[in-house]
This record gives sequence, structure tokens and C-alpha cells, in this order.
Amino acid sequence: MARKITPIVVGNWKMNGTRRSATEVNRLIGGLKKMPHPVCNVMLCPPATLIGDFAKLSKRTRLQVGAQDCHVDTAGAHTGDVSTEMLHDAGARAVIVGHSERRRDHGESNADIHDKVQAAWRVSLTAIVCVGETRVERNAKRTLQIITRQLSASLPATMDGDVMIAYEPVWAIGAARTPTPVAIREVHEHIRKRLNLRFGLRQGDRIPILYGGSVTANNAGQMASIEQVNGVLVGGASLKYRDFLKIIYAFSAP
Ligand code: PEP
Repeated sequence: MARKITPIVVGNWKMNGTRRSATEVNRLIGGLKKMPHPVCNVMLCPPATLIGDFAKLSKRTRLQVGAQDCHVDTAGAHTGDVSTEMLHDAGARAVIVGHSERRRDHGESNADIHDKVQAAWRVSLTAIVCVGETRVERNAKRTLQIITRQLSASLPATMDGDVMIAYEPVWAIGAARTPTPVAIREVHEHIRKRLNLRFGLRQGDRIPILYGGSVTANNAGQMASIEQVNGVLVGGASLKYRDFLKIIYAFSAP
């Protein structure tokens, strides 16, 4: 059984938001200030253009800011890319790596993700590593096999920094459907087992395992009730501060 982990709710804004979105973030921060304790940890991962602004807005608040992707190199000839040093400098404290949209749109492999985790750790960013099966893989009953392969190839051999795992079934992302609680529990237990085998109980049991894929204000309570779910990675529903706050409330129950 995993040790008690403070739940975390992470919002992934994807390619959405402009500087005008500061209003939404200020409302979110206002809502967080009114929340009774104990509460969960909260993070927003906006596009890279907004990390600096949001980090300033969230200074001395409960809200943390993360990034959605990074390059593996420190600096150099990589047009359009952003290094973890730059993300850290802008105020990010974590970075999502291996999101299925990046695997799909940019052909990212588990080996790329492995290197990005190390790049995150180089500057003490928490790496949020996404894993998950496609619909075809689930139907072929290959889910656990796929997750095992993604974990073993994308996580470095030794734990030299902070990491979270986000279980995001590809078929559930932006799809208004989720796996059953039983299916989520099964995959999360499997991930925990793999982490403990890989890093030992002391380290493996501390790693938060988040669920992601069509989490909404309506189903957050159900997600929060699954013991093996240490938090959620939220796409669409994180764009509206009222919905996002409801999800945070669901994970903040004492
Ligand atoms: C995501 O893409 O990380 C995600 C969870 O998206 P959504 O919540 O919109 O399904």
C-alpha cells in the first residue's frame, strides 16, 4: 500500500490562453485563498508564453506553475524549442513530458521522454511523465504491457529528482469518457508495483500517480474516491476557473 501522498491537481492548458487569461488565474487564486485547510497541491501548466506572467501572479499563493514540454539540451540551435533552464528561469517548477499529443504530433519516443526527464532533473523541475494506452491497445488487452514498456523505457534507472506519473488513456483524452473506477484502480496498482520494483518501496511509494483523461467537475468526486489515485491531470476542465476549483475541492476533502 502506498504511503499517504498529498493529492495534486494539475491543469494542462495545452495551446490555449493569452495574457488576458490572467483574469481567470486571478479568480482561481482568489478561490484557492478562500478554501479551508487541508487542501491539495495545485498546479497550472500554461503555454510557455504565459509561464512568466502566471508565475508572477501566483507568487506567495498556493498555485504552482509548470510547463507542458521541454527540449533536452541546455541551449543552442533548436529553433522554437525551450530548455528546462529557460522554464525554470521563467518560474516553472515542473514540466509535463511524454503527453500523448506530443507522442502523436511530434513523434516523441520513450527514449526522448527519458532524456527529457533527465533534463527536468538537471534544474530540479518535477517531471510529470504521461503514460497510457490507445483504444486499440486496450481492446487487445495490452494495456498493462504498454504501460510497463512506457515506464521502463522513459524513467531513468536512478531517481535523481522528483517525478509524478500521469496515467492518461489516450482514448479518454478530450473524449468525454473515462475508464471505470475498477479499470483505473487496476492500472494505478500496476504502475505502483512497477515503480516499487524499479526504485524500491522507499522511493516508489512516494511517487504520486495521477489520473488524466476527461476529468470534469462532475466526475472529480468519483476520481478522488479511488484510493490509488493521488491526483489528476486536467485538460479542458482546467480552462474554466469555476470547474477547476470544483475539481480541487473534490481532492481537498479531509
Ligand atoms: C490531457 O490532455 O492531459 C487531458 C487530461 O485532457 P482532458 O482533460 O481535456 O481530457
